[in-house]
Amino acid sequence: MRWGDFELDLISDGTFRLDGGAMFGVVPKIFWERKLSPDQTNRIKLGLNCLLVRGNGKTILIDTGCGFKYSSKEFEIYGIEHERTVFDDLARLEVAPADIDLVLNTHLHFDHCGGNTVCTAEGLVPTFPNATYVVQRQEFEDASHPSERNRASYLEQNWIPLVDRGQLELLEGNHTICEGIECIPTPGHTLGHQSVKIQSGGETLFFLGDLCPTSAHVPLPWIMSYDLYPATTLETRKEVYRQAVTEGWTLFFEHDPGDLLGRLIEKDGNYRAETMPWETW
Ligand SMILES: [Zn+2]
Repeated sequence: MRWGDFELDLISDGTFRLDGGAMFGVVPKIFWERKLSPDQTNRIKLGLNCLLVRGNGKTILIDTGCGFKYSSKEFEIYGIEHERTVFDDLARLEVAPADIDLVLNTHLHFDHCGGNTVCTAEGLVPTFPNATYVVQRQEFEDASHPSERNRASYLEQNWIPLVDRGQLELLEGNHTICEGIECIPTPGHTLGHQSVKIQSGGETLFFLGDLCPTSAHVPLPWIMSYDLYPATTLETRKEVYRQAVTEGWTLFFEHDPGDLLGRLIEKDGNYRAETMPWETW
């Protein structure tokens, strides 16, 4: 896909499953099950949609999926299915791991940075040997000191090898990666969560991360129970949505199992998404 100066490619790490109730927070099941139907154990299937951005002299990967460093029990609990993998999708585009210059992590939960590192004969190493990995300092500090509530999502094997090799860069707030690509703090899911704005040729693509994981989550109160600061998520969404509508942004839904692109429609302060599949766009 051409986006002004950039070439964009969807890189998928397959799918996984999380409890539908937890995914939709205070929203009753009778509403959310119409959008994403649950399996026998009440889990819903979610995409692990990452984005490859090439242009302005850079090859950038936004998030890295959940990767492979799990026990068979964990594979089962999270229903991880690698119908596609980050490796295969990159290989299909003839992009080698060594070609990636930058990895932008929205945050350090395992389903967003699990592919940051890989087990080899020499032990655990960065998957992308020449890349600088970029995350907000706040996120790194919170991930390094997890609480009882978020400990299961923060697995230090996903970033310790980056620290050891000097490949982790910590941001403090808004940061321009290169012309047309900006990391923007979008707190709420975690305090140090960030989104990525790609602007070129007068168009904006906004990689939401977990600010709004699927197009079904677009209505303002449809906020995940996983969010540590749901009231902050609400405030962040209001600000991002306002800009998205005014400027006609295209949104990228990282966990959407179907149509992962959308544009927001606002009516009387309520929002919904008009979605489109990656392929037709
Ligand atoms: Zn997530």
